[in-house]
Amino acid sequence: MSQGRKRIVIVGAGIVGIATAALLVEQGHAVTVIDRTGVAAETSKGNAAALAFSDIMPLASPKILFKAPKWLLDPLGPLSIRPSYLPSLTPWLWQFWKASLPGRYEASIATQTSLMRLAEAEMMALVDRAGIAGMVRHDGSLELYESDAEFNAARNGWQRREKAGIAFEHVRGSRMDELQPGLSPRFVAGTFVPGWKTVSEPQSFALALWQHAERHGAMFDKAEVRSLERYEEGPSVRLADGTRREADRVVICAGAWSKRLIDPHTRLRIPLDTERGYNTTLPPGAFDLKRQLIFGNHGFVITPLETGLRVGGAVELGGLDLPPNYARSKSMLDKAATFLPGLKTSDGVEWMGFRPSMPDSLPVIGALPEDPSVLLAFGNGHLGLTQSAAMGRLIADLVAGTKPSIDIAACRPDRF
Ligand SMILES: Cc1cc2nc3c(=O)[nH]c(=O)nc-3n(C[C@H](O)[C@H](O)[C@H](O)COP(=O)(O)OP(=O)(O)OC[C@H]3O[C@@H](n4cnc5c(N)ncnc54)[C@H](O)[C@@H]3O)c2cc1C
Repeated sequence: MSQGRKRIVIVGAGIVGIATAALLVEQGHAVTVIDRTGVAAETSKGNAAALAFSDIMPLASPKILFKAPKWLLDPLGPLSIRPSYLPSLTPWLWQFWKASLPGRYEASIATQTSLMRLAEAEMMALVDRAGIAGMVRHDGSLELYESDAEFNAARNGWQRREKAGIAFEHVRGSRMDELQPGLSPRFVAGTFVPGWKTVSEPQSFALALWQHAERHGAMFDKAEVRSLERYEEGPSVRLADGTRREADRVVICAGAWSKRLIDPHTRLRIPLDTERGYNTTLPPGAFDLKRQLIFGNHGFVITPLETGLRVGGAVELGGLDLPPNYARSKSMLDKAATFLPGLKTSDGVEWMGFRPSMPDSLPVIGALPEDPSVLLAFGNGHLGLTQSAAMGRLIADLVAGTKPSIDIAACRPDRF
């Protein structure tokens, strides 16, 4: 093995593990990705397909503290907490509240802004190198408001985006109809973001990126990782069949399950939890959707995919083990039918996924304090697809021992 070439084991073949593998093999490292389910077979399979590079406003915000109590009153609304999970969630909620206070919120916007700039540059370059530019749609998004009060409440966030150089256009009347014909008249205004992108279908996109990584030598191993270990020369992982994989670096990209793997090996108590999200994918022809539509006040989006039309979002705080409640998918589909009269709602496929969510809306990027050869890359919450190539670049920087492409102090594993 040539000098500088490292053996790297990545745990987790979601979009973050895939993009990280791609960036590491491109640099000549020997990379094996281990996943118990398959490549892009869990959360990264069914998301809403947005490359939301302009989404720099953290979820943890003064605004959400104001909105959350109202949302929680509706059991099928944009935000819900499974009562039996509330005791386990308390530390996460406490950190979420602290991160929503004005000082921390401002700092989070600054970090998200630089992370998103890196994310866009890295993802678009990776897509080009992988030869899959045709899988990215450039038709923007349209956020919709049902009243002037709702539109005015959103203005502050748009002003912040404007300062960050993000282009958008507030629209009404015929311009709104032109961007999306057939909307319910309940929508009085909208904001069009031309730079917003979506992928043709999240799982095929992730698989295409994986093929690129494979062409550069990345290997896949279908297995469950039981624990992190050390051998004489470096880190290793113990698999469920009892065998061990040794490496120079182990990268934990296990999404919402990452905490379960690292907790036994660190004094850090990283407050990773999951925001469960739901959707329904309708067959092609359900509606002539021109671009992704965002219903911010209802906590869901509708995305045109090459395989149909995906309706969903919402946040359910309920941990990793409780069964899904697909009444949530149905509720969003019912609302979508009133928002888009004429939407054909039959023959949909329901899905639930586990967003890996940190209470301050920032991911975890960095080394485990107890063992700097174990790197952590998870916690992108609502934005894992969008930020995956940036996560890969930053992990590649850490492996190379060079200065990270952006300041990642706010994403340190020991920040809590
Ligand atoms: C409804 C919904 C809509 C969303 N929409 C968007 C969107 O439009 N744009 C966007 O950017 N993001 C979106 N997201 C968020 C995005 O999907 C996630 O942030 C992203 O998929 C997380 O990727 P990941 O690689 O970190 O985790 P995952 O995709 O969950 O991958 C982690 C992998 O680790 C594996 N694993 C875990 N533990 C072990 C173990 N012990 N051994 C072996 N393997 C293990 C799992 O099998 C899994 O495959 C959405 C999420 C949801 C739920």
